[in-house]
Amino acid sequence: MKHYNSLKKIQQDLKLNKITCLELVNGYLSNVAKHKDLNAFIETYDVEAQEKAIIIDDKIKNNKAGKLAGLVIGVKDNICYKNHSSTAASKILKGYNSPYSATVVERLIREDAIILGRLNCDEFAMGSTNKNSIYGPVANPINKEYVPGGSSGGSAAAVKANLCHAALGTDTGGSIRQPSAFCGVYGLKPTYGLVSRHGLIAYASSFDQIGPITKSVDDIDKILDVISGKDDFDGTCVGNITLRKNYQESSKPTKFAIPKEVVDFKEINIEIKTHFSNLLDKIVSKGHTVEYINLPLLDYLVPAYYILTTAEASSNLARYDGIKYGYREGKDNLEELIKNTRTNGFGREVKRRILLGTFVLSQGYYDAYYIKAQKIRHLIKKQTEEILKTYDYMLLPTSPNLPFKINEDKSPTKLYNEDIFTVQSNLSGHPSLSIPLSLTKDKFFSSAQLIGNYFSEREMLDVANNIITN
Ligand code: GLN
Repeated sequence: MKHYNSLKKIQQDLKLNKITCLELVNGYLSNVAKHKDLNAFIETYDVEAQEKAIIIDDKIKNNKAGKLAGLVIGVKDNICYKNHSSTAASKILKGYNSPYSATVVERLIREDAIILGRLNCDEFAMGSTNKNSIYGPVANPINKEYVPGGSSGGSAAAVKANLCHAALGTDTGGSIRQPSAFCGVYGLKPTYGLVSRHGLIAYASSFDQIGPITKSVDDIDKILDVISGKDDFDGTCVGNITLRKNYQESSKPTKFAIPKEVVDFKEINIEIKTHFSNLLDKIVSKGHTVEYINLPLLDYLVPAYYILTTAEASSNLARYDGIKYGYREGKDNLEELIKNTRTNGFGREVKRRILLGTFVLSQGYYDAYYIKAQKIRHLIKKQTEEILKTYDYMLLPTSPNLPFKINEDKSPTKLYNEDIFTVQSNLSGHPSLSIPLSLTKDKFFSSAQLIGNYFSEREMLDVANNIITN
């Protein structure tokens, strides 16, 4: 099957009868089979996807197809799909079949996207390696000895390896952007409240957002257009995206703020640093403005993120008690049942976070940790808003480092610190897009991320296309 970089091209070929949806589905399924060793897909819905493809091919013939006809998409295993299994890569949800679909899934299907299957991830989206999965680690398609990033590692790897055209991931602290960077694809964390979280298995509800991972900026735009918008099932989803202004590169120079502390960050990879600095030169040469600003709270980002998200996780994950759904261990004694189910149903990293979250919320420590972290979150939000009043975008590398080997053991705190560039926009709620820049000597990609004003996604995508990638 031809390798398509954009849905636009697929739709052109569908119209010209050069390819059919059925051929696309079969092509991706054969790619999944060929690349089983990546371990990106947990499950594919072969027959269903083929049947759907035949129906959509017919709709195309009759000019009745939806906006996303021809899109074959994979969905992260923490997004529910009616009558399908969704487990958040956890033993505790083994055997769980969702009785309803996430709003995003319903909206994709309504516009004739074909759901190919569910994608591997870190358990409950906690991690940045995709090694914390009950289904085993995912390999990076660029080099299979390396991690694809996480937690949406299966999503990014599948898109890169052309196992599906695009994927949905979720981002609580970088889980769309960091794996996108590690695999050399595009990933958007939308503004908090743009995309409904209904049907997303919660990790930290005031941070979580669902977003697309794709091979082109244009595809992000098309998918976002369908999945975003107000939803009565999610009270935090206000929905409305700012309308696109007519983008003309020459009309107005764009102002980028570059956090000085990020560029001077000690542990940043030298190739990432060099490519980023080349990007700044390119931006300036196109007549735009690049200015260094200070982000004094940089050192507080990771601690605040891990205190607040683990606190929310300890509350969100309290529902997995062996009674309501999923895995159950024991039957005679209630306390034993809950204890055994949770002890053996959750993986190490998830338990570590539940314990940490319970601790920071406990009497005596609540003020010292949880409340303090909330205050820091408030300051970060204010500071980011201030920066984005003066500048159009913040621009920084997506991750300080390139992918590392799957068998390299990194301590939890070392891994947490790798999130330093991504968590700011989750703490503040701003949208952020990861864009692949250049090949590194090991054939990975350096990536940069834009952080824009709330609901400015459309303009941000245009800036990515016109200023960063071209
Ligand atoms: N790496 C971060 C974490 O482990 C991000 C997770 C996410 O965005 N879901 O919490």
